[in-house]
Amino acid sequence: MSEFSLIRDYFSRHALEGDEMGVGDDCAIITPPDHKQLVICTDTLVAGRHFVHETDAHAIGYKVVAVNLSDLSAMGAAPCGILLALSLPKHLNDKNWLKKFSQGIYDCCAPYGVKLVGGDTTQSDTLTINITAYGFIKKSSAIRRDGAKVGDVICVSGEIGTASFALHQILDDLYGDGHANSPTALDELPDDLRTALQYPTPQVELGQALLGYAHAMIDLSDGLVQDLGHILTSSNVAALLYLDDIPTHSVLQRLDFRQAMDFVLSGGDDYQLCCCLPQKSLTEFRRTHPEFALHKIGEVVAPTQTQRLRYYRNNRPFFGINPKGFDHFD
Ligand code: ADP
Ligand code: MG
Repeated sequence: MSEFSLIRDYFSRHALEGDEMGVGDDCAIITPPDHKQLVICTDTLVAGRHFVHETDAHAIGYKVVAVNLSDLSAMGAAPCGILLALSLPKHLNDKNWLKKFSQGIYDCCAPYGVKLVGGDTTQSDTLTINITAYGFIKKSSAIRRDGAKVGDVICVSGEIGTASFALHQILDDLYGDGHANSPTALDELPDDLRTALQYPTPQVELGQALLGYAHAMIDLSDGLVQDLGHILTSSNVAALLYLDDIPTHSVLQRLDFRQAMDFVLSGGDDYQLCCCLPQKSLTEFRRTHPEFALHKIGEVVAPTQTQRLRYYRNNRPFFGINPKGFDHFD
């Protein structure tokens, strides 16, 4: 299929109106709302690195949008649109694959009214998908990483460690050849584990609801300890983590505690929000927003010379774990 019929047939669904412009010219044209700031991010998924080669095209399309909307949510921004840069191997220039992939993109956009307004299409040996996502936020109100205060409580929006456990189930070796350990490994995962890995829900509404409540926020993509560590470093504070209060899937609760904590603290791909806010604000938020779950997992304390993070289990200091997050260049 030619580049142009491919774009027309699969990536031109969202028309923009009036003097705005989506797919079809050299650039998209967007009118920023009055008194708002543009919030913009980009994230790339590479086949065999961010997802196993056996992954269904629909799931790939869905997830590449979800991880970007998750970043916008972590600032409290309202997502608006995305651009898609697609580097496609020849064998995937195929109607069946493109139909499913583009449907995955549109399915993740739809609940949030996000529009695909442009992109770029090239051929490449490795399937690589980059999305740039943008949204808007009231001027000076974004929830950044550097706002955590001593005395804040630390909360997460849902289960941690499930996706990395699921990934561990389908891979023999995390740094292997990018293939699952069997062609049907993904299908054999229980539904809730597969969903956690392939269809993370970006916390779009929660992120915006936390405006005016949260002092600092981040989305969890590279592991709780590493990502919370970014908040702590930027805010120049330290934290206590109550390991037994971190919400986890029942399969993790059946594992040896230390092994479970490896997935919970170091595993990536959670796409839950982690935020710091005063206890008073948490109580008020829970009262006014009963539709959202926020799980308190720790508290922000003054920085010490030694460790940024200290762990507690059963109200006692817990030693002997040394979690790390994910780093592509490790
Ligand atoms: P140019 O050559 O001027 O850079 P292209 O031929 O690359 O333009 O793209 C034509 C139009 O199609 C542009 O509006 C571009 O944003 C859009 N487009 C290209 N690839 C994609 C894609 N994968 N998804 C969505 N829009 C795309
Ligand atoms: Mg051009």
